[in-house]
Amino acid sequence: MSISGSTRILAVFGDPIAHSLSPHMQNPALQQAGINAVYVACHIPAKKIGDAVAAIRALDFWGANLTVPLKEVVCPHLDELDADARLIGAVNTIVNDEGRLIGYNTDVYGFLSSLSIDLEFDPAGKRVLILGAGGACRALVVALGRSGAQELRIANRTFSRGEALAAEFATVFGETQFSAYHLDHNDLGRALDGADLVVNASSVGLKGNNFIGYPWEAMPQGIPVLDIVYSTSDTPFVATAKSKGHPATSGLGMLAGQGERAFRLWTGVEPPQGVMRQCLMSR
Ligand code: NAP
Repeated sequence: MSISGSTRILAVFGDPIAHSLSPHMQNPALQQAGINAVYVACHIPAKKIGDAVAAIRALDFWGANLTVPLKEVVCPHLDELDADARLIGAVNTIVNDEGRLIGYNTDVYGFLSSLSIDLEFDPAGKRVLILGAGGACRALVVALGRSGAQELRIANRTFSRGEALAAEFATVFGETQFSAYHLDHNDLGRALDGADLVVNASSVGLKGNNFIGYPWEAMPQGIPVLDIVYSTSDTPFVATAKSKGHPATSGLGMLAGQGERAFRLWTGVEPPQGVMRQCLMSR
């Protein structure tokens, strides 16, 4: 990579950020596409988000990605949010359109592309159990609602949070049925009845942990599992699912998919096919 006077700057902001895999996939993709830009990671605590957004304007960054804990707090600092980002209430990609900062949420696309590529799963008309009800779950619900899922069952440790999320999105996606469950053995057993897909959108697995008391015996035979938590090896939830005969994948495919969408938004060109996935899978 050769840095010149006209090299554009892209960044990922977050706290912590040193572990981010995004520079490892965006820089090779930029390079292979012959685009004169560099992608760097910046440590930005939540209280500095206003300064960081001002820096995008002042330094004329091409754009940025946002990760924990900035996806929600960044919203009021931007000029415009696209429809999905507004609905989700979170932004993971900023595009600097000649000084106008527009927020997008490319997790929606990343999730759907992983479902399709990794699991060959089409959500239209399907019943999906989602574990977790945080920010990532909101993006998944928008993705599944827009794709015509028949039923979304949300099981969360804090039941009231899942219940509120289900009630909120039931008014948005009138054709999809929503229900909330406790994250315990009995309730999960009920939530699995007739399910077509299970998605882990909680932080369980982030520290190598697994669900305690998960009712594997209630899983419909062979249904796919997507754990959006990513790690360079299988997460414990994915490893258990595979050992019980379920097609399963971790969040690396989703991470690549959201990165590809962001690349397209910034540069206006398609990222070189499969490069980001390859970079992540070979780590
Ligand atoms: P978040 O807003 O902080 O929400 C965390 C969720 O996990 C909440 O539902 C929380 O339940 C639940 N949770 C946390 N610890 C738990 C435990 N010990 N047992 C059961 N539930 C627990 O986080 P987020 O932004 O939604 O992100 C969730 C995960 O998705 C993270 O691991 C993140 O890395 C991953 N993610 C991956 C991608 C990708 O591209 N692959 C994209 C986005 C996010 P309570 O409501 O009870 O606290």
